[in-house]
Formats: sequence, structure tokens, C-alpha cells
Amino acid sequence: MKTWNKRTKAVHAGIRRSQYNEVSEAIYLTQGFVYDTAEDAEARFIQAGEDEFIYARYGNPTVAMFEDRIAALEGAEEGFATASGMAAVNGALTAMLRAGDHVVSARALFGSCLYILEEVLTRFGVNVTFVDGTDLAQWEAAIRPDTKAVFFESVSNPTLEVIDIAAVSTMAHAVGATVIVDNVFATPVFSDAIAQGADVVVYSATKHIDGQGRALGGVILGTKEFIRGTVEPYMKHTGGSMSPFTAWMMLKGLETIDLRVRAQAASAQVLADGLAADGVLSNVIYPGLPSHPQAALALAQMGVGGTVLSIDAGTQAAAFKLLNALDIWTISNNLGDAKSIATHPATTTHQRLPDETKIRLGITPGLIRLSVGLEDAGDLLADLRAAIATL
Ligand SMILES: *Cc1c(COP(=O)(O)O)cnc(C)c1O
Repeated sequence: MKTWNKRTKAVHAGIRRSQYNEVSEAIYLTQGFVYDTAEDAEARFIQAGEDEFIYARYGNPTVAMFEDRIAALEGAEEGFATASGMAAVNGALTAMLRAGDHVVSARALFGSCLYILEEVLTRFGVNVTFVDGTDLAQWEAAIRPDTKAVFFESVSNPTLEVIDIAAVSTMAHAVGATVIVDNVFATPVFSDAIAQGADVVVYSATKHIDGQGRALGGVILGTKEFIRGTVEPYMKHTGGSMSPFTAWMMLKGLETIDLRVRAQAASAQVLADGLAADGVLSNVIYPGLPSHPQAALALAQMGVGGTVLSIDAGTQAAAFKLLNALDIWTISNNLGDAKSIATHPATTTHQRLPDETKIRLGITPGLIRLSVGLEDAGDLLADLRAAIATL
């Protein structure tokens, strides 16, 4: 399996067949498992074997299939599936940190990630230093001999800053810090984060892995030692595990993820090129555009610009007018979905942030995040152009 390419792994890796030899992965919709004898129960609680399960909060065959498949796809030794992307971010950080530890994090983060780093970790005595993630000098200055972990989104939500995984990892590893990357925007298809230096990769499976807006989920990926030794004990006792039904949906999502996200990224490039060439909007942000400050890094790191672009309509009133004029695009706050979704971060996903923080992060009043779906790219561009023309 190690020699298989990602597309093959996405379809076949991790499969566990029952005695019926079903083709499609079985859904083991059970919270518990029966032991033949009291001695068997005792033995399993002392040390459960590879295919032995105890309780669905600890593990379940359908969830294990998903964990093994996504780990194979990412090139990680192991994975732990979680109830949501935030359970994964929180689990990866809190499982390994304790009071007095120091963490360096990029400042440009998804609102809930920022909440964990700024509010939750600090409440338990973890010291967090925030840096501008694209400025390597700031990482260099902030990482100290006692830094335990660094955290960043490889492509930030919603301003699409691209962070140099290899360069930050080299600095972190020099002091023995663990590199935790929230890799949602890179997707497991375009990611090579572990080869580039990341120790731990976290996904919200809610996004491209499901890809059809059906369920919340997440996963923490890393070495066997980190996942089994650090993450699993924390997650299985604190309750953020993925449900078997969700795992089955995510397994099915992985079967088509390669085709979907390549089509979505190709359309995103068409839209970014088209809107940038029109020259009507004050700003078109897309890592696949030559005008993006980290365009070369994005291409080296992911090979593509990704499935999301952001545009600036100028003012909140103009952004709302544009959103309300859209016909095909859905106003919502998910991303990675088959349906193209337009989001106004300043008033929704990042509403909680003080105005000055929004401005510092580039979340301007006119900013609109566009998650490109699977519709025809020409239709999507025509819809956007018609909406922009109303301004
Ligand atoms: C959506 C998202 C999350 C949170 O995932 P949920 O599944 O909604 O909990 C975390 N990080 C990033 C970058 C995201 O886009």
C-alpha cells in the first residue's frame, strides 16, 4: 500500500471487511462490544489488539477504517478521528500541553482556533505568542528554547495567507517543538505537510473530506507515538470521538475527494483569473494568482492555489449587495462543499473579533470568501460578474 498513489489509497486504504466480504464499508453502529468471557473483557481492557474494540468513544471498526484511510492518504503513521474539526484542533493542543508551556501561533486563524489559543489555553496557564505567520523573522524571534509547540493554518481562513511549513518546522525542530498544522485549505489531496516537516496535521473533515455538507467531523494525524500515546488517552476520556455513521460518510467522501478538489481548484483558478482580469474589484486574493504575495510558496507547497478565493467589494454595504444578488452561489459559512458558498467573514465566522483585530488580519468590511463548488466554472463566473455589476 505504501507505493500506492493518493487516489488509490483514498479508495482502498484502511478497509476492514466483515465475514460477509461486503464491497462497501460496513457501518458498525454500535457503542459497545461483547466479550466471550470475563477473562476476555479483562484482557482487552489491559491491552486491546489491533482489531479489538471496547467502547465507541475509544474506537470503532468503521471509525478505524476512516482513521487508517486518511492516515495513509496524508502519509501519517496513525490518526484519531474526532467529532468536529474543532475537537481535533483542541485535542491536538490540549492533549500535549500543560500549565507553563509556551506555544507560538500564527495570528491569522479561523475564529474558533483563535478562541482555543487565546482564551482556553491561556486560562490553563499556557503562554501563547502570536506572530504574523508569513513573516519568518517573527517566528524566529518568538520560538524559544522552551517552546513546546507551534500552531498555524497552512493557508489561513479567510485571507489565504500561505505559511512556509518547511521553514517554520526547521525553526521549531531546532528547539524540539512539535509542529501542529491545521491543513483544511490544503486538503489531504494537495498536502505534503508531513514530508515538508509537520509533526501533526489536523483536518476539519466537515469541509472537503465530506465535501457535501452533511456532517461535522475531524481528524488528528501524526506519529504512532503521538496519536496512541498522547492524543488517544486524552480524546477517549474527554469525549470528542467521531460517530461510526459519520466515519462511514467520511470514508465515502474520501473515495471521491481527489476528483472533487481538483475540479474545485481548477474552477477557483478560472474564477480568480477572470475576476482579476476584469479589474473591477479592489482586491482578488487567491494563492494561485501571480499577484498573491506567497504565490511561489503556494505552488511549491500544494501544487495549486486551492479551492477558496476571497474578494473585496469595498464596503460592507457593497459586499451585502453583491451577496444578495448571487443566484447560484449560496450564502452560508461552510467551505469545501459541492455547492459554491459565499461568506462574509466580518459579520459571520469572524464576527466575534474586535474591529482592530479584523483589520490587522485583513478581514475588511468588504471581504467575501468564496468556496468554489462543483458547478460549471463559467456559470459561477457569470453569476459573480452579474452580481458585481449591480454595485
Ligand atoms: C472549519 C474549520 C475548522 C473547524 O472545523 P469544524 O469541523 O467546523 O469544527 C478549523 N480550522 C479551519 C481552518 C476551518 O476552516
